[in-house]
Amino acid sequence: MITAVILAAGQSSRMGGGHNKQFLTLRGRPVVWYSLVAFQECAEVDAIVLVRRPDYAAQAETLVREFPKVTAFADGGKERQDSVWNGLEKCDPRTEIVAVQDGARPLVTPELIAATIASARQFGTGIAATKVVDTIKEARADGVVERTVDRTKLWAVQTPQTCRFDLLRRAYRKVLDEGVVVTDEAAAVERLGEPVRLVPTPFLNLKITTPADLAAVEALLAARAGCELGKPGIAR
Ligand code: C5P
Repeated sequence: MITAVILAAGQSSRMGGGHNKQFLTLRGRPVVWYSLVAFQECAEVDAIVLVRRPDYAAQAETLVREFPKVTAFADGGKERQDSVWNGLEKCDPRTEIVAVQDGARPLVTPELIAATIASARQFGTGIAATKVVDTIKEARADGVVERTVDRTKLWAVQTPQTCRFDLLRRAYRKVLDEGVVVTDEAAAVERLGEPVRLVPTPFLNLKITTPADLAAVEALLAARAGCELGKPGIAR
């Protein structure tokens, strides 16, 4: 069984306005709706656990009515890793593979989800990622560069981050027991010393962090909708 844990319980402090960014509107739908559609449409995924803040419980209940794969809700925690753990606790115990998705990444597709699942089946992990194309600097707080990082081996990781269920539970158990903070599943698995496999993302898989990102994603979604209109048999 394959379960998705979709995270929509961040504080959205960089967005301003005190809103939960996953529930901001993007082309007439809440941001997290787009992740729900992609996981609902991915044939490999059997169930979805939606992690949301308790103060958004009613909104989340209404939202999932059109997504029959959503079988459970979990409460968000203080850090992202606490939210993931709460989501893992709500997964069906028959789960063999779990795909963790940032609800703030609305450009995810069923094909990318399936590619991370295929990698997790074969290697234990499948992490959506893109090779870094910019030159990367390390700088002091005042903006003065300290050094240039060799970019040839650098990847920017995104979600879905898909893992064997027992592996991810072990990894997060260790993180929580040791009281450290990690910002993604890969980092938790790395701490176990287990190999982590990257899956190249063939499109811009932006995360909505600031109001400017909302406009950029809106434009990309519009372009994608335009392409789909051009395909035979798709009318939207
Ligand atoms: O903060 P960041 O942008 O890294 O968050 C990534 C994702 O994790 C977002 O979808 C956010 O809603 C979620 N998150 C969460 N609970 C937290 C922190 C972040 O569900 N405590």
